[in-house]
Amino acid sequence: MDAPVNQRVEIPGLDSFEVRLYLKRDDLLHPIISGNKLRKLKYNLQRAKKEKYTKLLTFGGAYSNHILAVACAGHEHGFETIGIIRGEELQNQWKDNPTLKRAFAYGMQLDFVSREEYREKNTKRFVEVLQTKYENPMILPEGGTNALAVKGCMEILTEEDASFDHVCCAVGTGGTISGVINASEQHHTVLGFPALKGDFLKADIATFVKRDNWNLISDYHFGGYGKVNEVLVNFINTFKKETDIPLDPVYTGKMMFGIVDLIQKGHFQKGSKILAIHTGGLQGNIGMNQRLKQRKMPLLEI
Ligand SMILES: *Cc1c(COP(=O)(O)O)cnc(C)c1O
Repeated sequence: MDAPVNQRVEIPGLDSFEVRLYLKRDDLLHPIISGNKLRKLKYNLQRAKKEKYTKLLTFGGAYSNHILAVACAGHEHGFETIGIIRGEELQNQWKDNPTLKRAFAYGMQLDFVSREEYREKNTKRFVEVLQTKYENPMILPEGGTNALAVKGCMEILTEEDASFDHVCCAVGTGGTISGVINASEQHHTVLGFPALKGDFLKADIATFVKRDNWNLISDYHFGGYGKVNEVLVNFINTFKKETDIPLDPVYTGKMMFGIVDLIQKGHFQKGSKILAIHTGGLQGNIGMNQRLKQRKMPLLEI
């Protein structure tokens, strides 16, 4: 994989704060597979090949970037794929869902389970049922986070990134930021912007990382996972107009909103160099617009 470029981001009105902001365009790594989801799959796919698995099974919600990433990667690398999808009600509606429709087109078998069942997904009993039903697939966790995923995400930062003071990353399950932290320099401060309310995240990340030069900034989840409001949608549309860089409202939009807000509040010293990771997620914007339209809210310009 080529190292993605760090693109300078200049937002009108922020000059006086004298910080330099760059976005690492990991979203451009692959046309379908969201930047960080490809990083997270890399060593898992190698392991699946080495151990001669023929099937990959994983879990996700209806708009999951990880679900589509696994479906597409399975198609590219010759694995059958199975997606255990949260929400029985989707059984008869999934063809209206752009993410699931594409996953299916890549050959993924979709298995819809109730929310109660979905919560059991990590239990021994449920895993045994899946192993039997689908004849020994390699099981990847929800969001794709495991030790091999963290290893893949260590490749997000390169030597050239040593010149930055701060590295910012959106956080879902914490696998991506864990890799970034492990690959960071001592002088970096790594800032995570959780996309959900989750007091557990700090402990989860701590199981993967070996350093303490990081912090989570939990003020920009906008009410929880997948929750959006007009302020966020307008921010993303304005950002696109000003920089020509698209963001997604679930992860990178919230992170970037947070970074800009922190800059305006003087959080970063003058002269600071900030690198934000664009982890991708843009495939979800089509599905998000369907929901925004139903709620008669402004749409994302995509
Ligand atoms: C999944 C995802 C994240 C979060 O990654 P984690 O490793 O789960 O923390 C961030 N950004 C995008 C675009 C994602 O799809």
